[in-house]
Formats: sequence, structure tokens, C-alpha cells
Amino acid sequence: MSAEDLPAKAQQVYDLLLEHYGNNPLVPRREPMHELISTILSHRTTEANEARAYRQLRERFGDWEAVRDAPVAELATAIAPSNFAEAKVPKIKAVLAQISAERGAAEIGFLADLPVEEGMGWLMRLPGVGPKTAALVLLFCFAKPILPVDTHVHRVSQRLGFFGPKVNPTQAHPILWKLLPHDAQWLYNYHINQLRHGQQICVWGRPRCERCPLTAICDYYQSSQAAP
Ligand code: SF4
Repeated sequence: MSAEDLPAKAQQVYDLLLEHYGNNPLVPRREPMHELISTILSHRTTEANEARAYRQLRERFGDWEAVRDAPVAELATAIAPSNFAEAKVPKIKAVLAQISAERGAAEIGFLADLPVEEGMGWLMRLPGVGPKTAALVLLFCFAKPILPVDTHVHRVSQRLGFFGPKVNPTQAHPILWKLLPHDAQWLYNYHINQLRHGQQICVWGRPRCERCPLTAICDYYQSSQAAP
């Protein structure tokens, strides 16, 4: 398939996954600083433990300024349910320090007024914040048209044939940005339904292709059928 055909293929993927998993209305699920800090806490951590770490952090310190200025050991204890807590503490403190220095407070509501590329650029200048976290905050909190490429979106998109095996999730962001529609609700459905697909059917290891609605347009499936 040539590169010009990929936008039409993306629409087919969207339609088939929408039929299979349903529509997901884009409603902001939590306030922007919550989303940003929770995304850092979620790295290699279950949803339940991420939520516990966040709750403990807020209960212990109250506001973001107190978190920013907290002793490292106390902060590590508060977020202990999150894996690699010691490594996440300096990251969280540095992010809060930079936001406070630039904005006068740990508050990022101003991103609502920025075009999506500017918002991505601003967030990605924060220490340790990459395209996935930046895109999550902008799409989920501000309904900006950008697709977060997490591990599931990356794996499913790669198997379908949107990019080659050497493209990592960071490199996948600009590739998908060029070929997907810049429509927040469309991208939200695409993200949520590919995430579900990656968790339930196109899983890590051996994908469950026998249950998949995408076999007719999937490069991985088609080449596995052609193999002797
Ligand atoms: S056909 Fe198989 S490899 Fe392709 S998207 Fe479906 S589950 Fe994944």
C-alpha cells in the first residue's frame, strides 16, 4: 500500500473499531495538573496503584507548591504505590518548579488558548515530558486534536502497517499526525479504541487475530497468511 492510501486505511480502522468497541464521547476526565502528574505516576504502574499514589500525594501535601518544596524522602513515601517512585520524585519536583517559574504558579490552564503545536512544544520543554504525556494532557483535558501514542496504539498501528518495525513511539507521533484527521473527537475514539484493541485482542506476544475485525486490512495478518 502506498503512503497516499494510508489516510483512507486509517478511516477504515476507525470505522471498524468504532463498530466493535463503540463511541467514546470526549469529556475532560480530570483537571490538567492532575492529568500531567498522574501520567508521570502511571509509568510502569497499574491504574489502581497510580490512583493510590496520586491520592496519597494530595492528602499528604495539599497543594502543588508543597509538593514542589517537599523533602525528597517524604515525597517518595507518599507516591510509593507507584513503581520507580524514587526516580519519579525528582521528575515531579522539576516539572512543578519549571511550571511555577514560568507561570507564577503550578497551573497550566493557559494551554486551552494555545494552538496544538505550541502547546505540545511548551509541554515537551518540561523536564522528562515526552510527546505521549504532552498529547494526553492536550487531548484529554483541552480537547486539542492530537493523538497520544502509547504502547498499545504503537503496537496496533505498527502491525496494521502505518509505519515500519524500527519506528519507536516518539517517532510515530509526527508520522500519525500527518495522516490522521485533526479532529479531537475522532482522535479520542481512535486512541481509546486502539488501546482497548491492544489490551484485549492485538495483545503483546501472540495477537488474537482470530477475534479481530481488522484482518482484511492488517499487514501483519496478511503476511502471516502468505507465509509458507
Ligand atoms: S489482525 Fe491480528 S495483528 Fe492485525 S490488528 Fe488484528 S489482532 Fe492485531
